[in-house]
Amino acid sequence: MFLADYHNHTHLSPDGFAHADYISMAKAAADAGLSELCITEHCECNGFYMSIDNNIGFTYDRETCRAELLEAREALGDRIALPFGVEIGQATQVPEKAELVLDGEDYDFIIGSLHNIRGEVDFSLIKYPSAEVCRDMLARYVRELYELAETGTYDVIGHVDYPLRYMRRKFDVDLCPHEEELRALFTLLRERGKGIEINTKVLRGGSPIYTQQDYILRLFREQGGEILTLGSDAHKPEDVGAGLRESAELALSQGLDRIATFRRHEPTLHSLR
Ligand SMILES: [Zn+2]
Ligand SMILES: [Zn+2]
Repeated sequence: MFLADYHNHTHLSPDGFAHADYISMAKAAADAGLSELCITEHCECNGFYMSIDNNIGFTYDRETCRAELLEAREALGDRIALPFGVEIGQATQVPEKAELVLDGEDYDFIIGSLHNIRGEVDFSLIKYPSAEVCRDMLARYVRELYELAETGTYDVIGHVDYPLRYMRRKFDVDLCPHEEELRALFTLLRERGKGIEINTKVLRGGSPIYTQQDYILRLFREQGGEILTLGSDAHKPEDVGAGLRESAELALSQGLDRIATFRRHEPTLHSLR
């Protein structure tokens, strides 16, 4: 099976592990039999949340990322392809930051993510007091995702299920009330030649969390979606490639039988069969 891990972080992301340098991540990917590894450091347009009351500001440094990537390409040779990626968070909230990053013409791939919605901290840090609060935030999240999709500063939308990772630890809430909006979102993505990712982080840790990835993939496919990437969201070499096979099986079960890789934002689709 052709596998490419298109969502990873290193020590150059504020939440990355110190031993996670580009060369060790790339070696781990090659050893795991992956064809490609795309490292996508955090570029949080409105600053990076280390904790609920500590936003450390804008941290992304494209030149340092590129320098380490070039070193890893040199070290790994033709063992694995290493396209240049980035994960841009909250382009809706500070669009000029996202555009600044995009001045770099040498990116291959951009994940557009929403880790927080306007006026709130990162979903991972919120202490959800009730299901009602979760439902209100999910409604605002889906609306802001559509806005994000309209910005154009991405190739795929990252982890559509992101808030559910955290909310569903406490409450049985879901995205079903927003089916029409999600269908509209996926239609917009198809019209613009963009896609989504399946993020496998929810499969790791003690107890995997069900975040409706099957539902999301089904709606995406029903709206004609084709461009799909798989990402482990690894922050250390030990997690590179984790869960990709399971996610590929999930995609197949929902009628999606190809995954995308990117060069300069141009997707190539590879069969999962
Ligand atoms: Zn993310
Ligand atoms: Zn990430």
